Amino acid sequence: MRSPARQRLGYVALLCAAFLVAVTSGLTSFSTQIDNDAYDWMFRAYVRGGGEPRSILLTVDEATLLELGGQRRLRAFLAEALESLVAARPRVVAIDIALVDAEDETLDGRLEAALAQLPAYVLPSDEMPDGRTWQEPLARFRRHAKAVGHVHALPDPLDSVNRGLPLEVIVGRDRRWALALETFRLYSSAATVTESPEDIEVAGTVILAGRAEGRPMLIRYRPEGVPRISVLELKQKPELAERFRDRAVFVGVVAQNMARDRLMTPTSGSSQMPGVEIHAHAFETLAGGAFFGKAQMTAVVLACAVIVLGAGVSFWYLNGVRAYASAALLLAAAHAAPHLLFRGGVVFPVFAPLAAAWLSVAGAGVWKHFVVRRQLEKTEDDRARYQQAIHFVTHEMRTPLTAIQGSSEIMSRYNLSDEKRKQIAQTIHQESRRLGRMIQTFLDVERLTAGQMELKREPFEAGGLIDQCVERVRHLAERKRIVVEAAPPPAVTLTGDHELMEYALYNLLTNAIKYSGEDTRVEVRTQYGDGVCRITVTDQGIGMDASEVKQIFRKFYRTKSAVAAGIVGTGIGLSIVEQIVTAHEGRMEVESTPGKGSRFTMVLPARAAAGAAPDRMVVSQ
Ligand code: ADP
Repeated sequence: MRSPARQRLGYVALLCAAFLVAVTSGLTSFSTQIDNDAYDWMFRAYVRGGGEPRSILLTVDEATLLELGGQRRLRAFLAEALESLVAARPRVVAIDIALVDAEDETLDGRLEAALAQLPAYVLPSDEMPDGRTWQEPLARFRRHAKAVGHVHALPDPLDSVNRGLPLEVIVGRDRRWALALETFRLYSSAATVTESPEDIEVAGTVILAGRAEGRPMLIRYRPEGVPRISVLELKQKPELAERFRDRAVFVGVVAQNMARDRLMTPTSGSSQMPGVEIHAHAFETLAGGAFFGKAQMTAVVLACAVIVLGAGVSFWYLNGVRAYASAALLLAAAHAAPHLLFRGGVVFPVFAPLAAAWLSVAGAGVWKHFVVRRQLEKTEDDRARYQQAIHFVTHEMRTPLTAIQGSSEIMSRYNLSDEKRKQIAQTIHQESRRLGRMIQTFLDVERLTAGQMELKREPFEAGGLIDQCVERVRHLAERKRIVVEAAPPPAVTLTGDHELMEYALYNLLTNAIKYSGEDTRVEVRTQYGDGVCRITVTDQGIGMDASEVKQIFRKFYRTKSAVAAGIVGTGIGLSIVEQIVTAHEGRMEVESTPGKGSRFTMVLPARAAAGAAPDRMVVSQ
């Protein structure tokens, strides 16, 4: 039986393992992908309309390119579109078209003039392939620009889905705010972006985005999208220009063959969203002022620890249905928490807390199951031992008790001669001593099985033990005219508990007599060799078959033929014999043939008695 302290330690170790596995597995790319998928799922489930959009897209789509002269004429129709917007006075125009090379002078000039008329516009810039400088827009276009913003909207390296963008990108030593952020600043008429290492602030809107992490911002994609009007549509219906009034206008190419910056987003399904639209959504996120914040790693680790602790406490202090009910509650809470947090704007990973919940609940549950089972087994064991005790008392002890009762009755009833009286008194004395010995043996075996008793370790001669037992069974054997023959044993010394060994051998002998017919023989043989003593009791009795031999040492087991023959027994004796022999580091061997007889052998560690030749096979016949 494990001690409670070790049990507690094992339990704590199990919970710690569950915690560590949950936290470390939460860092793998597999779990990150699951967290990403859960994020997208929750996004689609919980993010609802963000009110009236503050932005609008002015797009160059396939139809525009087809009708207005293709990519070559881009700057021309772009200039024309911007000119038509001037009257509507959009608050700010963000251009997501790289204007880095000079093209046709007249066209560039027209575009420059159109830009100059806008109340405010932002130009894009991207990192040069060498990664050391910014690719700047042409100076003529830049001249009137209120800002230049970066257009880094990168896909997640794991699944190529875009969920956010860095509000700040530093190339070389030059820092650029995101195009969307600059657009928002101009839209809000803020002069600057105020920054601290943890957050940035634009016109009273504070965005928690740490400088150390590259100031990331999760985009709250509007499920209903951002309104869009193409350059062609604007040309065909100039009255559409009114829709751009007071809005932030994002201008970009969305035609499949030209827009290389298309990405998947949580709301875009299997299709991809053009970069300009992503920037418009980022702007809407900033303008809406409701940001998603990613939970800190320490919070995740803490949550895992709380969950594991919860499971541990539930299964340690509660039992049965209560333990399982609280575990179910814990699991439900672990499943629900990321959803509730998401609705409150906090993005919490699902994998690590769920792994912590399931692992700790399963681990603690299984642990509890085994502890309960062990307790049940112990109770069963105690019950069986109790039954055994009752059987022992009722059957085994009845014989000496009857003898004592009978003898004392004779003494009190009849007028007996001194000789007879002395004889009966002696019988009473002998039987009561036997009873006393039996009780002692019984208690010893009980304590031995319960592990409460140290076996006595005293040396004694095998010969003496055999003689005593044979002597004790002789009168039993005589009643059935059975000859008990014990060959003189070799000089062997056994070590152990003499009383218990006597009980064991006596049991084998009484069984041999009990399960044999009249006029048969019972032989006791002793062999010694290689430090092992074999004491064999052979009878010519009813025997048993091989399958019965296997079960003979089970408590309360009795063979069919023994029951059929009507021989009284409890099926306890042999189980005690085996326990005694095992406690002496020995073993039992049984050979038997139905109807022919049985041979029971106690194989015990021994040494040759002083004077005898050591380690030589001595057979006594
Ligand atoms: P009991 O004799 O009280 O039934 P034991 O544990 O001593 O209990 O023996 C268990 C069973 O083993 C007996 O009931 C009997 O069926 C069988 N058995 C034991 N010894 C012998 C034997 N020498 N010959 C045949 N069967 C035996």
